Amino acid sequence: MTVINSTGVTKQYQTTVALDRVDLVVEEGETFGFLGPNGAGKSTFINMLLDFVTPTEGSVSIFGHDCQREGVEARSRIGVLPEGYSVFERLTGRQHIEYAIRSKEAEADPIRILDRVGIRDDADRLASEYSKGMAQRLVLGMALVGEPDLLILDEPSTGLDPNGAARMREILREENDRGATIFFSSHILEQVEAVCDRVGILQDGELVAVDTIQGLRNSL
Ligand code: ADP
Ligand code: ADP
Repeated sequence: MTVINSTGVTKQYQTTVALDRVDLVVEEGETFGFLGPNGAGKSTFINMLLDFVTPTEGSVSIFGHDCQREGVEARSRIGVLPEGYSVFERLTGRQHIEYAIRSKEAEADPIRILDRVGIRDDADRLASEYSKGMAQRLVLGMALVGEPDLLILDEPSTGLDPNGAARMREILREENDRGATIFFSSHILEQVEAVCDRVGILQDGELVAVDTIQGLRNSL
């Protein structure tokens, strides 16, 4: 089954072409890396998947639902780790997970999730007291609520120390083993390689290559 399908997607801001006729298909069960330098258009594409940005041309769908016209149909099946996400200063870690559970109408044990991302001991501390790495673990925990069929991660390693990054990779592997499709954006090749089987390379809004990690290596 096709999870993400982008056909001829273009996004133009005044004079900037942030995405230029992007065609991309991601199938169920894939771990797909979206690799490109800062400014390549990765966040614009992800924001389009979430309907925060509307394409100038073309269209994009998730699980067969057009992200702009019927995005809500797919939303409950998606877990998102947005770039630069900030936590609610006045809520504890546990309350963040509870908030995610309520908004997804999911059933889950907040403590189990906090344990999984390694911040169980800090469950009842205010998130404003968390380090950057702990906050990033918390946001990952929120994304995991409800066993999503698709995990979308925008530069997820930001703020994580090596242990946190390793734990995140482990969790993404577990999620993929249970059947979740992973869409992982990063500007760092090593991070993409560590998680993904297939990679799309975005440069100045253009998808210049899509291949397996092995295929890309062979063509270098
Ligand atoms: P990234 O690290 O993914 O490149 P940015 O820091 O460029 O993200 O962008 C952060 C936010 O600012 C995004 O919501 C993006 O849409 C917006 N943004 C980026 N560039 C511009 C711009 N030139 N004008 C207005 N908004 C922008
Ligand atoms: P990436 O996530 O790969 O760093 P972005 O999607 O944030 O790239 O940005 C792609 C291009 O689009 C950049 O040139 C950025 O400045 C521009 N851009 C992004 N958002 C906006 C916006 N809201 N207004 C104007 N330009 C934007």
